[in-house]
Amino acid sequence: AQKSTRNSGWKVYHPAMTDKVNHEVHLRARLKQALQRQEFELHYQPLVRLLDDKVIGAEALIRWRDSETGALVSPLDFISELEYSGLIVPVGEWVLRTACRQVMAWRKTLPNFHIAVNVSARQFIEHDFVDSVAHILREEKVAPGAIEIELTESMLFDEELTNSKLAQLKHIGVRLALDDFGTGFSSLGRLASMPFDVIKIDRQFVGKMNAGERERLVIVSIIALGHGLGMTVLSEGIELAVQRQALVDLGCERGQGFLFSRPIPAETFYANYVDCERPLLADGGVVADAQ
Ligand code: C2E
Ligand code: MG
Ligand code: MG
Ligand code: MG
Repeated sequence: AQKSTRNSGWKVYHPAMTDKVNHEVHLRARLKQALQRQEFELHYQPLVRLLDDKVIGAEALIRWRDSETGALVSPLDFISELEYSGLIVPVGEWVLRTACRQVMAWRKTLPNFHIAVNVSARQFIEHDFVDSVAHILREEKVAPGAIEIELTESMLFDEELTNSKLAQLKHIGVRLALDDFGTGFSSLGRLASMPFDVIKIDRQFVGKMNAGERERLVIVSIIALGHGLGMTVLSEGIELAVQRQALVDLGCERGQGFLFSRPIPAETFYANYVDCERPLLADGGVVADAQ
C-alpha cells in the first residue's frame, strides 16, 4: 500500500505508515457501510438574529452513529476521508435531501425558517452538482430561500466555473453563504462579483475580538465589507455574552455559537425552537414572555 500524497509532494515510507493506511482503508469501508445502513444523522445548531435572539434558521451538521462502537463520531474525524474517497458525493446528496425534508416540515410552523447545508469542494466541482441540487429541491418541493448552501473561499479558485455555478444556484432559489470567512485564500476583489447572501465570520476572529483594538478592527472591517456589498453578516463561534453584545453594537445581524446552543438532534431542536417559537436567553434557556 502507498501513502497518499494529498498533503505534500513527498512519499515517505516507514513502518507506522502501514498502520495508517490500514486505518484509512478500514475507515473507508466502514463509511461506505454507514451510508447503506443509514448511520449518518444531522444535528442542527440555531442561527440567531442577534437583535432579539430569535432563532431564524439552523445549520445542519453531520454526525456518524458508528454501529461498531456505538459512538457519535464528529465530522472532523471522517469528512476528509469521505472527500478523498468520493463518498462525500452520495453522502452530500443524503445530507441535502434530509435537510430539505426537515426545513419543509419545520416551515409548517415557522414559514420563513431556513436550513444551511455545508458543501465540500469535492461536491461543488462535480460537473452535475447544480443539476443534482436542483433535482433534490424539486423532488422535495422546497420553497425558494428555504435552503442555504455554505461554501468556503478555498473551493472557489476557478473564477469562471465558480461564478456560473453560483449564478445557477441562485437561479434555482438557493441562498448562498460564504463559510469560515477570512481563513481561506480570499480574494477580496472577487467577493464583489460573487452573489453571496451571507458572510460567516470564522470563529477564530470572533474568539479574539475582545483581545484588543486590532482584533476588534478585523471584525469591524469584515462587517463593513459585507454590508458594503449588500450581504448579511453572521458571526460563528459566539461563546460569551460580551462577544454577542459587542457584535450587536457593531451591527452584525446574525450569530451562532455555544452561547445559544450546541448542535442538537432534530427532535430536540423541534421541541426547543420550532414547537414553541420563543427567543433564546443568552444562557441557552428560553425566554417565557419576550417580545
Ligand atoms: P463549519 O461548517 O464551520 O461548522 C461549524 C462548526 O463549529 C461545527 O462543528 C460546530 O459544532 C462548531 N461550533 C459552533 N459553535 C461553536 C462555538 O461556539 N464554539 C466552538 N468551539 N465551536 C462551535 P462540527 O459540527 O464538528 O463540524 C465541523 C466541520 O465539519 C464544519 O465546520 C464543516 O466544515 C464540516 N461539516 C459538518 N457537517 C458537514 C456536512 O454535512 N457536509 C460537509 N461537506 N461538511 C460538513
Ligand atoms: Mg458551515
Ligand atoms: Mg463555519
Ligand atoms: Mg468554522
